[in-house]
Amino acid sequence: MTDTNPLLELRHLRKHYPIKPNFWGRPTAVVHAMDDVCLSVRRGETLSIVGESGCGKSTLGKTVVRLHQPSSGAILLNGQRVDNITGAALRAFRSRVQIVFQDPFSSLNPRHTVRDTLAEPMANFGIAKTASDIDARVGHLLDMVGLPRDAGARYPHQFSGGQRQRIAIARALAPNPELIVCDEAVSALDVSVKAQIVNLLQDIQQRTGLTLLFISHDLAIVEHLTHRVAVMYLGRVVEEGDRRSIFGASRHPYTRALLSAVPVAAADGKRQRILLKGDVPSPIRPPSGCRFHTRCPFAVDRCRAEVPQLRDIDRVHRVACHFDNLPLG
Ligand code: SF4
Repeated sequence: MTDTNPLLELRHLRKHYPIKPNFWGRPTAVVHAMDDVCLSVRRGETLSIVGESGCGKSTLGKTVVRLHQPSSGAILLNGQRVDNITGAALRAFRSRVQIVFQDPFSSLNPRHTVRDTLAEPMANFGIAKTASDIDARVGHLLDMVGLPRDAGARYPHQFSGGQRQRIAIARALAPNPELIVCDEAVSALDVSVKAQIVNLLQDIQQRTGLTLLFISHDLAIVEHLTHRVAVMYLGRVVEEGDRRSIFGASRHPYTRALLSAVPVAAADGKRQRILLKGDVPSPIRPPSGCRFHTRCPFAVDRCRAEVPQLRDIDRVHRVACHFDNLPLG
C-alpha cells in the first residue's frame, strides 16, 4: 500500500561536474549530468528512473543517497532537508536510505562472510548490539531474501550472481531503511534470475512498506514492477507519470521511441519501431532549448530556442514538450 505524503522530494536538483583542469588546475569544461530535476516518491511506492546510458539516472541515484553532493537544489526526506546535512545527521540519514548497485561481486567484501557483511551495518547504525541479537537479525534477513540460514557462514564467491544480489539486498535492508535506491540492480543478471530478484523486491515492499527508487534502462522490467516512471534524457526529466500513463499513453517523442524498442505481448508481438536519428549529444555542451531537438522528428525553431518545462497533462502525468498533439509513433 502507498501513502499519499512524499517520503522523498527532489526540488530543482542539479549536478554539474567540472572537468579538464587547465595548467592552473581550473576546470575548462562542465558536464551537465543532471539539471532541474523535480520529483517526489510516496512512501511504499516504486518510482523508476529510465533512459539511455548517460542520461543522468545513476547520477540522480547517487545524489539522492548523498554519494554525490548536488550542485544546487534540495533533497527532502520526510519533509526535512538532507542535501546539506553532515556529521551525526548524515550518519542517521545513511541508515534510512540505502543503495544496491549493479555488480554485487565488487560491492561485497570477498574476505567477509555473509554474516559479517550483514552485521557491519547493524553495528554501524546501532540496530543490534549483542552477538545473539545480530545472529537473530542476520537469520531474519536471510529468510527475507530467500537464502538458507547456513549462507551466513559462507563467502561471496561461493554464491551465484543472483544469490550475491540477494546478499546485497539483505545488506541494504540490515539498517531498516525507509528507501532503497536500486541502481541497475538487476541489469547484469540472466533473464530468469532478473525476474526472481524483481519478484523478491516486490514481495519485500508489500511486506515492509519499503519505498524504492528503481534505476534501469530495461523498460520491460520497469513495466512489471513500477508504480510510477520518470523518463530522463540528457540530464533532464522529459516525462513522468504512473505506469499506465507512460506505458499506455506516453506523449513525449523520446519516451515513445524508447517504448517502441520494448517487446510486447500484443497479438502481432511487436510495436512499430521508432528509430531516432543521430547520437545522444555531449552533456558538456547540451543542445539549447529542448535538449532532444537534435533527434526529434517534430522539432521546430521554438524547440531550439525555448526549454520546455514539465507541465501537467492530468493529475498523474507530466510532459516536457511544447506541443500537445504530436502524431503517435
Ligand atoms: Fe520535439 Fe520540440 Fe517537443 Fe522537444 S519540444 S520533444 S524538440 S517537439
